Amino acid sequence: MAHEDSLTHAIDWDVDRATFEANIDSLISLATDNKKIIPLPIAIVKGEPFLEMVIAITMQVDCNGCNAHCCRTNPDGSNISMAWSDYDQLRLKHTEEELHNKGIYIRGATCVFPSPCPFLMVNTCRIYDDRPFICIMYPISNPARDGTGAPMLAVESSCPEARRIAKKLYMDMWLLRERVRARGK
Ligand code: SF4
Ligand code: SF4
Repeated sequence: MAHEDSLTHAIDWDVDRATFEANIDSLISLATDNKKIIPLPIAIVKGEPFLEMVIAITMQVDCNGCNAHCCRTNPDGSNISMAWSDYDQLRLKHTEEELHNKGIYIRGATCVFPSPCPFLMVNTCRIYDDRPFICIMYPISNPARDGTGAPMLAVESSCPEARRIAKKLYMDMWLLRERVRARGK
């Protein structure tokens, strides 16, 4: 899941649509090929709604057609680290023995899930309402940095829906900026 450093980037919005689209395709391909995250054109500003923005993005993810890639493989090949609070949540409905038998264990301040996830059954999460925080947030990743170093929302490039949503966001944003600019003339 969230795993890689961001690509520090700067976006040139003042180009024609075809050039902009080619630049965005290149940004997404570069991130995917290098197993990096994809920065989104949304700044993270202290005091502004963050979870609302995250939900607005994750709600657009349509997992139909994907083989639960994110639940089968951690991009770096390691087990998946969850927060201690996720383990507490699971213990409300599962005994420690059950969790242990699924290969879930505690290491320091984190709860470690094996990969593939033991709660995945035929592409469906069996603990959907109690799934760990990192699963709720996915494919949102750690923040990226824009050309000035400011934090930006970002998504995991290994998720096909994240790539689709990132492209759509950039293209919609370019169009909106053009319309706003035209109204100002
Ligand atoms: S990798 Fe993306 S599209 Fe596939 S199951 Fe996970 S969130 Fe859904
Ligand atoms: S807990 Fe559910 S959503 Fe999270 S990795 Fe496991 S199967 Fe996937």
